[in-house]
Formats: sequence, C-alpha cells, structure tokens
Amino acid sequence: MPDGSKHDPGAATLLRDVFGFDAFRPGQQDIVEAVTRGDNVLAIMPTGGGKSLCFQLPALLRDGVTVVISPLIALMRDQVRGLREAGVVAGALTSGNTPEETDAVWDQLSDGTLKLLYLAPERLANTGTQRMLSQAGISLIAVDEAHCVSQWGHDFRPDYLRIGELRRSLGVPLAAFTATADAETQEEIVQRLFEGEPPQRFLHGFDRPNLHLAFAPKDGPRAQILRFADARRGQSGIVYCGTRAKTESLAKALSDEKHLACHYHGGMEADDRRIVETRFQQEDGLIVVATVAFGMGVDKPDIRWVAHADLPKSIEAYYQEIGRAGRDGAPAETLTLYGADDIRLRRSQIDEGLAPPDRRAADHGRLNALLGLAEAQECRRKTLLGYFGEHEVTCGLCDLCDSPPAVFDGTEAVRKALSAALRTGESFGAGHLIDILTGNATDKVKARQHDALPTFGVGKDLNRLAWQGVFRQMMGHDLMRPDAERHGALVMTEAARPILRGEAQITLRRDSLNRAATDRRPAVRAMVSDEDAPLLSALKAKRRALAEAARVPAYVIFPDRTLIEMVEARPDSLDAMARISGVGAKKLERYGAAFLSVLTSGAEQDMHPTRRKLAGQGAGNLYDQLLEAQAGLARGADGTEKPLSCSAGLLAKVAQTRPGDDAALERLLGDRRMERFGTAFLDVLHGAD
Ligand code: ADP
Ligand code: ZN
Repeated sequence: MPDGSKHDPGAATLLRDVFGFDAFRPGQQDIVEAVTRGDNVLAIMPTGGGKSLCFQLPALLRDGVTVVISPLIALMRDQVRGLREAGVVAGALTSGNTPEETDAVWDQLSDGTLKLLYLAPERLANTGTQRMLSQAGISLIAVDEAHCVSQWGHDFRPDYLRIGELRRSLGVPLAAFTATADAETQEEIVQRLFEGEPPQRFLHGFDRPNLHLAFAPKDGPRAQILRFADARRGQSGIVYCGTRAKTESLAKALSDEKHLACHYHGGMEADDRRIVETRFQQEDGLIVVATVAFGMGVDKPDIRWVAHADLPKSIEAYYQEIGRAGRDGAPAETLTLYGADDIRLRRSQIDEGLAPPDRRAADHGRLNALLGLAEAQECRRKTLLGYFGEHEVTCGLCDLCDSPPAVFDGTEAVRKALSAALRTGESFGAGHLIDILTGNATDKVKARQHDALPTFGVGKDLNRLAWQGVFRQMMGHDLMRPDAERHGALVMTEAARPILRGEAQITLRRDSLNRAATDRRPAVRAMVSDEDAPLLSALKAKRRALAEAARVPAYVIFPDRTLIEMVEARPDSLDAMARISGVGAKKLERYGAAFLSVLTSGAEQDMHPTRRKLAGQGAGNLYDQLLEAQAGLARGADGTEKPLSCSAGLLAKVAQTRPGDDAALERLLGDRRMERFGTAFLDVLHGAD
C-alpha cells in the first residue's frame, strides 16, 4: 500500500508489551513518531493526557540514553519504578538518592545498559554531572513540565534555564512537554529551551469535530449494522467485530445485501490481507469488516463511517478506532453497539489475562470509562474528552445531543436487583435474576425454591427488556461484575453498597430502544440535495476513472469535500474551477477540464459511448444496473478472486436482448463470466420484468 502508513509496528508492539496499552491516546502517536525521528518537539497536552509515554516510548525506540528532566522527585521515582517493573532499565539522579542508588545508575550508564536517566534540574548546576552527561551517549533530552522555564509563571525553576545550554553542548534533539498552553509561556519555552529555533509543535485539541458519535444497546445487532450500512450505501466504511468468525459472516451478510464488502483479520494470509488493504485504499465505497488487526496501516482520509459490531476493549481503543473515520475533515459517522455479553466478555478477557493485578485493575478502569461513555446520559463528546482531560467542549454532534435519552430514578430497581443477587448467593446471571424479579417460575427457579424468596415477583413493574437494560447499566456503572470463575454469575461491587444502603441514588436510561442512532440519516448524502445527487455520482465516477488510470486512490485526485463544493458552486469555467477549495494549480491543469465537462454538459458526457447509444431506452437503465452488479463482483463475491468483467458491448447486448434463463445468458457470456455474474445478472433481468 502507499506509504501513508504512519504506524511503526515497533512502537505498537512496545506500547502493548512494555506499557500494557492497547492503543495510543489522542495525540500520542504523532508525538511519539516525531520524537522518535529526532525532531525538536514542543507538545502541549492536558494533565493526565499521557505525556510520559511520549518520551518513554521513543527512548526505547532510539539508540542511546534519554535524559528526562522533571521538577518533581516523587514523580520521577514513580516513573522509574514503573519502568523497571516493565523491564526497562531506568534510573534517577536526585537529591533523594542513597549513595548505592547513585552508584548503580553510574554503573548502568557506563556499561551502556541504561535507557532512561531521570535527572533533577538542580543536578544541572553540577559540573560533574555535565561532564558525565557529555560522555554518556545521551541521544535525547526530554523536559517534563517545560513551563517551569518561564520566569513569569508560578512554577519557575531557575535550574531549568540551564537546559538550553545542555542541549547546545550535547547537540541532541529535545522534546518539551507541558500542560500550559498560553502563548506567552510557549514563546518563553521556545526562546529558552530551543534558543528561538521553532520546534515542531503539537497542540491539538483532541476533539474531532466532524465525527458524529453514537452508541446503541444491541437489539438484533446484525440488522442494526445492516441498517446503518444501508443508509450509507456507496460510502467507504469499517465495521469492527470482536471475533474473526464474525468478520466473515457479517461481510457475507453485507455482500448478500449487495454492498461492496470484504472481511479482514489477523488469521488471513499476508497476501490476502494486502489485497484488502489496497482495495480499501483505492476503491470508492468498499466496506471492510475487520478485527482490530485492521487499522495499523490504514491511512485513508475519506472513510465516511466506522461501526463497532461489538464493544471495543477500552476507551483508548474506541477513540483510536472511530478516529480512522473522516480524516479529511468532512462529516463522518460512528456507531458503537454494546450489550451485556460484551461487558462479560471484556471483563473475563481482563480477568483471565496474565497481567499483574494492578495492571488488571487499570484495565478494568479503562473499560469502565468506555462503559460510562456507552451509558452516558448527556453529550458523548463531553464525556469522552473529559476522560482525556479536556473540559471545554462544544458538541451538538452526538446521538445524545440529537435526542437526550429518557431517564428514570433507577434506585429502587437497582436495589431490587442487588437484593435478588445477594439472596441467591451471588451465584446467578442476569437471566435467572430477572426471572426471579418478574415472578417467572421457571423450572430452574422452582428447583432452587427461588419462588419462595421475598424478592420473587417484586419487579413486575418492569418488563423483561427493561430489566435487561437495568442489569446492563448496572454492569456499565460497575455496580455488578460477572465472576470470571463462576460463568458470569453477577457479584456486587463496593460501588453498589451506598445504593443498597439507601445512601445514594442512581439515574438510569430508559432503553427506549429507539432506532435514532442506527437509522440516522447519513451525513454525506445529506450534504447535497436530492436533485444534485446524480451530479455528485457522475463526478465520483469521473474521479474513479481518473484514479484507476493513474493507479492512485480516488481521494488523491480530489477529496469528497471538493466534489461536493463543485456540485454546490457549479463552476462553469476553469477560472471558476480554480476557486473551488482543493483545486490547486497542478490539479486544475491535470483534472480541471475533465471535471468541468461533467459539470457543464451534464453526466451524459461521462458515459461510455456504448451506453450513450442506449440513452432514453429501457435498456439504458438495465445497462446501468448490470454495470453496478458487475462492479460488485469484479473480484468475485468475497472480493479475492481475479478481476473479471464484461465489455461495454457485451453488457449492452445483455441489456437489449434480455435473455430470460441460464442457458440463454450463458450463450452470451460464456462459462467463466456466467459463473461469476450469471446469478446477479438474472436477478437484474428478472427485476426488470
Ligand atoms: P500526564 O503526564 O500527561 O499528566 P501521564 O503520562 O501520567 O499523564 O498519564 C496519565 C495516565 O494515563 C497514566 O495512568 C497512564 O498510565 C495512562 N496512559 C497513558 N497513555 C495511555 C494509553 N495509550 N492508553 C491507556 N492509558 C494510558
Ligand atoms: Zn454531544
């Protein structure tokens, strides 16, 4: 695939194996790449956003030692301990060191095993330290809390003023990090640490304002995904699934609905994976149904939607996966489905993993954050970005802003549910507990005499579906957890105790099971009016033809945005065309006339001459449908076979003669084409009767 692949597999592996994270947080990846490359970097990230990873990971990817300067001794010691536990050779030189600790650091420095050396700023005043650093093979300086260099700030540390000099004398790149974003402080940092030479700056808000965010509880998940995809027919999208098997079955279901879809997972041959990657990059409107293995190398800017058929692993993974949509800045949509089974699965994956206990606890925490987002009662964007430390958020582009959910005081329901669980020894899953609550005397209930419990039938005010929503939300708020050792029996957590005791209240969403999220009108189709839609299609067809001829992805010719603007502005000359954003001088010269002809003389200009001859006849329409059916099968039903197509003349003949059965069609097509296209063509022909 084109080398847009920004992801260093080394970085991804270390991220997982050393740090135990399954995805980068917003902003981290770009910073890690720049620092690893050896760029001078100034990165501004909110507190808690994950700055330390942005120098720790490059330190491991680069040769030599990374010096980390940080004003907080306790924090340095924490980081050193954490790194050592993860198997990284790191040490600190601070005033709190014992002589043995200091000796050990010097030893590791001289034998070349040390990767990260944390240094208290006052050490820089010491000429011995300076000399030692100049001989130690330092290859990078990282400065945490870089605003401490600002004399006007309240955190000023005079020793930070020595860092610029250190950088000059060592002649190595420097990466500075801070959460303080005001322009004066930034300017001072640039002056003092980089001696005025502008570093590469990273100050993104984490918000992706063009992404629409939506979650929906699973309610016939396959149909939910099919509906979502159907409303976005012809747009490129990704469906993430929890298992390999599901990618295959869902891709087939989409293909059966005449979508251009194929599956992708880590169990496929490398060649087959590459075929899918290349197709996705180059074709318009392909849906890839994939596990998270798909994405590392995906750098397609015009992905119009991402759907999760299953709940992602953590809030970081969620952010990264939805973040693949809409990189071109044009509207893009996301939908994440989740249900009680997802929660059980994700919990058990963590519990059954081999990670040490505190890492497992952190993983549960990150899953809780995602569940909190799934069960949020107001703005998803606020909830999501709040988790990453960003609190000034405007939205209006999420399902909860579109239509705030109905909520109810769930305190009573939750107490009843907890009591049902406790009275049955916390040994049962939601299904059985709901039977008890709703007074459903199943054999299992009777066999265990649970129909004699005081909780039997106390929850008749809610139906089964509503109770399922209550249990799912209880798991989502981490009030109950499935017990990994006992097949998902629900166990109360500490967080539930105040509610049980009547000391806290809880508001729950009413699962209206409204279809608002899945049935939302697609953003892109809504961007041009219905009467303009054919023109947009014609422009896209032109783009596809040019892209195929030049063997480049379609968006390289023009992004969707530019085509939409053409439709709206209807430029009627090359001069007018030049004013469309995205049409630079080079592209105007190369493609201007071709697109202008589509715009000025209508879509017919863009037709194959053979098709043009059929215009105005019924056969013209039929021809178009055959062409579309053929496009969907150009590489076979599963998208992996050799390309095959029928000539325009042959299609025209099929459209005009309308063979009514297999034999007649096969006489026209021959056996190879018959095998590939026969059924689909006959469908089209019969549909026309
Ligand atoms: P900062 O220095 O920006 O305040 P830290 O580097 O201390 O933030 O990170 C804050 C928290 O985020 C830490 O608990 C860290 O383990 C966690 N964290 C950092 N990066 C990731 C990631 N990619 N995925 C999950 N958690 C992360
Ligand atoms: Zn919102």
